[in-house]
Amino acid sequence: MCYFDQQLWSCGWWKWGRFREQCPKEYRTGETCGLKLIYRTNTEGALCKNCDAIQKKQRRVAKMTEDIKRWRCEGNRRATIEKTEREIGELNHQIQKIWADHELRKNSISY
Ligand SMILES: [Zn+2]
Repeated sequence: MCYFDQQLWSCGWWKWGRFREQCPKEYRTGETCGLKLIYRTNTEGALCKNCDAIQKKQRRVAKMTEDIKRWRCEGNRRATIEKTEREIGELNHQIQKIWADHELRKNSISY
């Protein structure tokens, strides 16, 4: 068992930080035995990079949805609307994927 810092975000997402201490079972210098234990948890206040990416994508979706609404009133914009709708679909797909990984990570002990 080797000890590592853990970085924990308020949303529950986390990652391993610095290597801290080697366990007595591991004799190779600079190597770790593979079983990671938490030495200290550092709490990160801001959003984790996943939540940040999700928020950015959601903002883009919201903006594009507004654009589509406007274009529908203006008329003569069908090609643009269809293209934008495809982009929204793609973004929503990416958001779901990031979110699924995020939730998986939150509930896993080691990675
Ligand atoms: Zn997060």
